[in-house]
Amino acid sequence: MTATDSTDPPKAIVIGAGPAGLTAALELTRHGITPTVFEQDALVGGISRTQCYNGFYFDMGGHRFFTKSKEVSALWRETLGDAFLVRPRLSRIYYNRRFFAYPPKVGNALHGLGFIESAIVIASYLRWQAFPYKNVETFEQWVTNAFGKRLFEIFFKTYTEKVWGVGCDELRAEWAAQRIKSMSLGAVVANMLRWRSGKVTSLIEQFEYPRLGPGMMWQFYSDKVTSAGGEVRLDTQVKAIEHHDDRVNSVVTIRGGVEDRHAAAQVYSSMPVTQLIRALRPAPPESVVDAAGTLRYRDFMTVCLILKGEDLFPDNWIYVHDSEVKMGRIQNFKNWSSDMAPDSSKTSLGLEYFCNRGDGLWTMADDELIDMGARELEAVGLARREDVLDGVVYRMPYAYPVYDADYRDALDRIRDYLSHFGNLQSIGRNGLHRYNNQDHSMLTGLYAVRNLNAGANVDLWKVNAGDDYHEQVGEGAT
Ligand SMILES: Cc1cc2nc3c(=O)[nH]c(=O)nc-3n(C[C@H](O)[C@H](O)[C@H](O)COP(=O)(O)OP(=O)(O)OC[C@H]3O[C@@H](n4cnc5c(N)ncnc54)[C@H](O)[C@@H]3O)c2cc1C
Repeated sequence: MTATDSTDPPKAIVIGAGPAGLTAALELTRHGITPTVFEQDALVGGISRTQCYNGFYFDMGGHRFFTKSKEVSALWRETLGDAFLVRPRLSRIYYNRRFFAYPPKVGNALHGLGFIESAIVIASYLRWQAFPYKNVETFEQWVTNAFGKRLFEIFFKTYTEKVWGVGCDELRAEWAAQRIKSMSLGAVVANMLRWRSGKVTSLIEQFEYPRLGPGMMWQFYSDKVTSAGGEVRLDTQVKAIEHHDDRVNSVVTIRGGVEDRHAAAQVYSSMPVTQLIRALRPAPPESVVDAAGTLRYRDFMTVCLILKGEDLFPDNWIYVHDSEVKMGRIQNFKNWSSDMAPDSSKTSLGLEYFCNRGDGLWTMADDELIDMGARELEAVGLARREDVLDGVVYRMPYAYPVYDADYRDALDRIRDYLSHFGNLQSIGRNGLHRYNNQDHSMLTGLYAVRNLNAGANVDLWKVNAGDDYHEQVGEGAT
């Protein structure tokens, strides 16, 4: 198929209407540039979208808004005003048919584990403090050094392996270091007993949240971009990025089977970096294409259920560490914001399953998934199967960039190649293959625009690299 050339003058083009792309687009309007955003899906927000089904709002995961960046925080407040709620956090861990408080509480943990198990945990912690792994390369080694082997086996192993689909001895230590940075068993216990005045950064007790879920924020961003003269074109996939002399000249899109070529003055891409490399015309050197081919992702699915019952459980979310059920986490959306569930006599839950595109879970029929979700919910004792009234399934590809043994070398090669382009910036979580939250993704969008339009020289691949973060369990391990 040949693409039709658009008659528009060269524009600033943004690929993807997730947090990174929309923030870049909004920042462009602040520099007096009106961008065109191409989004392949029918909805804005990327992984941080909110789906609405029969009047109930479903967050694809449960997105807390928390940031250390004053600029991002100000942007969020300015955008949503009173619709940006401050919410208390309650989350527990389900393990071995018991619920454990998270953040941990001494009485609860001792009662749940029992005296002997608790003594073994402490003994194991002391042993690994005295004789830690010397070369820390894997997630298992990192966590064992921080918490001891026994706690690793009880609380980290099953859940982390559910999330990533690989053994903890294959996951790189950087992931743990990025997400669990300031935590150790000593710090956790001290926090439980309030021995220290300093806060453990992971144990935050409240967070901010849009009244109708994260998608509300991103829809407002999209509206701001369009009211400033930009365009957000949904259902439009970028298929090819054409370049010459280290500059991108045009982008080819496909919408409803029709291809169009758009002249580009500058391009901000938040598509997965593997796809960016594959979309470049002419193709990059073989070594770069091969490197892109080795990057891996983990996918994700939310089985959303609407149930009878006003108040099934008080948590915002529950981590399911038990290996008897496949789900990894349960979100209770009315506890995030009561407006997410319009009928107060009902409860809407999101059961999260981590999978790989094409595997048994991903390809299972929706009604089977809904049935499995209802059974698993009953198995963990949170609801009766017959109370499930309705359900819907949302699949989210490219949810997690995987940090495996080879990713760093591959990324270095890709980064080096992309750095030659004068008007192309790869941004966002998958654009940088980095385990970024919304705020970090937004910052990469902001800085990218300043790099090309305000003489800034920010290394986007380092945004969030040394940042200790608020949340250890957020999306991954506990
Ligand atoms: C389960 C889960 C829970 C999370 N919880 C939190 C949390 O509590 N707090 C938090 O801050 N963050 C959280 N995150 C992270 C957050 O979702 C991401 O950081 C954020 O969505 C990344 O934004 P992005 O714009 O970089 O990428 P994305 O959200 O992936 O957006 C990229 C967009 O590009 C589009 N696209 C891709 N390819 C093309 C193409 N070829 N053409 C056109 N469009 C294209 C995609 O459709 C998508 O809309 C969570 C993530 C997951 C998976």
